[in-house]
Amino acid sequence: MKGYTYLIIGGGIAGGKACEGIREVDQEGSIALITKEGHPPYQRPPLSKGYLKDEVDLDHVYLHPSEKYQELNVNVIKGREAAGLSPKDHIVTLEDGEEIGYEKLLLATGGSAIRLPIWGNELENVFTLRSIEDAQKIQEAAGANKRALVMGGSFIGAEVSATISQLGTQVIEIFPESRLLEHVVPEEMSEHLDDLFSEHNVRLLPDTLSEGLEGETSVQRAILNNGEHLDVDFVVMGVGIKLNTDFAKDSGLEIRQDGSIPVNQRLQTNQPDIFAAGDITAWPDPHSDQRLQVEHWDVARRQGRMAGRNMAGKDQSYTALPYFFSDLYDLSFEVWGDLTSWNQTVKRGSIKNRSFAYFYFDEGQLKGVLAVGRPDEEREAFKTLPELQPTFADVADKLQDESFKLAEMV
Ligand SMILES: Cc1cc2nc3c(=O)[nH]c(=O)nc-3n(C[C@H](O)[C@H](O)[C@H](O)COP(=O)(O)OP(=O)(O)OC[C@H]3O[C@@H](n4cnc5c(N)ncnc54)[C@H](O)[C@@H]3O)c2cc1C
Repeated sequence: MKGYTYLIIGGGIAGGKACEGIREVDQEGSIALITKEGHPPYQRPPLSKGYLKDEVDLDHVYLHPSEKYQELNVNVIKGREAAGLSPKDHIVTLEDGEEIGYEKLLLATGGSAIRLPIWGNELENVFTLRSIEDAQKIQEAAGANKRALVMGGSFIGAEVSATISQLGTQVIEIFPESRLLEHVVPEEMSEHLDDLFSEHNVRLLPDTLSEGLEGETSVQRAILNNGEHLDVDFVVMGVGIKLNTDFAKDSGLEIRQDGSIPVNQRLQTNQPDIFAAGDITAWPDPHSDQRLQVEHWDVARRQGRMAGRNMAGKDQSYTALPYFFSDLYDLSFEVWGDLTSWNQTVKRGSIKNRSFAYFYFDEGQLKGVLAVGRPDEEREAFKTLPELQPTFADVADKLQDESFKLAEMV
């Protein structure tokens, strides 16, 4: 049986960064990274943006060129899948029964895109978007005179609609919420997005679901619950992910109902030699005093590196404020903090001028900031403000007053 000092399962950003984290601390121990994909570790944000638009190539998607793993002395094992785990014996079993031993293990297996359980969901040209191959198929199907139905009103659905509409595709986007990005942006922002998307020939249909898809081999029609029958050339489902942790079920590793793996501040699971990082992780967030599980590139990147360092002997705590970004046409969003729960916002700046920020409060306490096009000195303040948790009563006036320097608050 082969064995490694450090074994990493997963070829996303978290797995890739863990290789670097380990080598920052231990230059000697053997490292293997197993990924079920046929690529070296890669990052997914370009798959709905520049790569889907054909503006950047695979070099921009891959975390590093392959030579980097030789330099780091990491054995990248592609196209193989972990199917079982025995923490007691320190063994991971692959899908063909091969066993691989480890001293320290990192689970960084991310998620798989969900396919909605409606009829016709397996027809050709019904896509989800998680992998490089998914993005390639969507790009091939998109273009002038093509009609697409996009399902999902959160960031993936919105980004796909924005990108493929810029490739000339006629897009209809449906979602069950009453407005686009309902859970993450205030109503005023959704209204602005309505105008922006319709300027690009994207028809947004809130409160709408598809009951089924029809076609001989390839999808030709979508039946909506508002009675409409839409002729379509392809469909993209951007409706969320299922976390890839089933292979570790019944191993003694603690896994929560939603598939996430609870870790301590060091990103260690209930099995001391097993760490977890990225989308699958539910970590104790010191800012909100809650366990958080998010699907953000920056969180996966930081956790991957830190888990690697801690596996190699460091003792660091993960305390970073969650951060994510998204691009919709000419709007580049950045979000600091946790927007899962909020009931009040304050705006600074102007949407029309493409320079604004919303401050999100929950029960009177600042929880997060969403910003577009604000000056760098303010961006610095946004990184710190949610950590300070100021109250609405104390700061609302200052936040909306653009002449007030936010740096003074931090
Ligand atoms: C299209 C798209 C656009 C996005 N855009 C943004 C954005 O703009 N901003 C942002 O903050 N976040 C964005 N995200 C989210 C971000 O990409 C994720 O948070 C990030 O990919 C999580 O990284 P990860 O390493 O935890 O998991 P993943 O990237 O999912 O990687 C997990 C890897 O593990 C492999 N794997 C799974 N199971 C096994 C197994 N049993 N054996 C072996 N290998 C296995 C998978 O094949 C995959 O390679 C986007 C995601 C997508 C899909």
